[in-house]
Amino acid sequence: MNSHLSDDHLIDRLYGLAEGSGHIENCTDCKRRWLELREKRAKLVASGEVSTSLLAGQRRRIYARLGVEPRPQMKWAPALAAACLLAVGVFLYRPAVAPVPPVVPDAQLFSEVYSMEQSTEPRGAEPIHELFEDNQ
Ligand SMILES: [Zn+2]
Repeated sequence: MNSHLSDDHLIDRLYGLAEGSGHIENCTDCKRRWLELREKRAKLVASGEVSTSLLAGQRRRIYARLGVEPRPQMKWAPALAAACLLAVGVFLYRPAVAPVPPVVPDAQLFSEVYSMEQSTEPRGAEPIHELFEDNQ
């Protein structure tokens, strides 16, 4: 019946979540712990700010008590960014359309092949002939 108050109970009482049981007034050990807790809180309130290092230290102690390794908060952020970029890339990707060769009717193709075969001059010489024809 005369067990000491737990730290959790003292913290709950500090923040108004638990009622006083009268034990603190009768127990020197619990009263000392209670006063220390109130003094720590008063110092924090008086300092006006809670430093990042204090919060990080609290976090490490909590994880140590839980027996868990603290994980970096943003470890998954690069993977998420890469996944988003991949999703956007897949969404925006349009395969390049291969150029479609002009459709030449068979009759025109055969006539061109026939004229190339019958011609004694190479086809590359035609523009030169056209130059001379224009001058005349
Ligand atoms: Zn006690």
